[in-house]
Amino acid sequence: MEIYVGNLDASEKLKVETTINWAIPSGYKLNKEEIKIDLSGTITNLGDFYLFEGEAKAILEFACDLCLEPVNYLLSFPVVERYSETENEEEEVWGMLGKSIDLGGAVKMNLLLNLPIRRACSENCSGLCPVCGQNLNKGACNCASQPKNSFFEGLEGLFSDKEV
Ligand SMILES: [Zn+2]
Ligand SMILES: [Zn+2]
Repeated sequence: MEIYVGNLDASEKLKVETTINWAIPSGYKLNKEEIKIDLSGTITNLGDFYLFEGEAKAILEFACDLCLEPVNYLLSFPVVERYSETENEEEEVWGMLGKSIDLGGAVKMNLLLNLPIRRACSENCSGLCPVCGQNLNKGACNCASQPKNSFFEGLEGLFSDKEV
């Protein structure tokens, strides 16, 4: 999606309100292949470059790391990027397509940088029972009633044997 800025005077702002659909690469382990990114902000003509300042929002769906239940997660992040007709990677200035700006690349890059590292359905997710696989958020299983420390009791037995 290209935004024409050729008619922006110096210091003039252009309001941007758009939606970017993106088939996010499968390596990011999201449940939905295509996500919708809502973007709003302004492009300002600052002479040497154009400045985009705005905010992006997207609903991500992924499996909870602990209980594997699907989670809908609202990700919102700021996007502040500079554009000029001559791209300059060192100065972190994006190139333009003639007098048009394509915000897609910068928005996608910022989204990936802002993906949550910890993916849990809640702060207090109890996860799955390692023995029977029961989702412990939905109730305790019978495994919990068995002695928990039998493994460690076994170890203690080993050590005391050695001492004798
Ligand atoms: Zn969970
Ligand atoms: Zn269990």
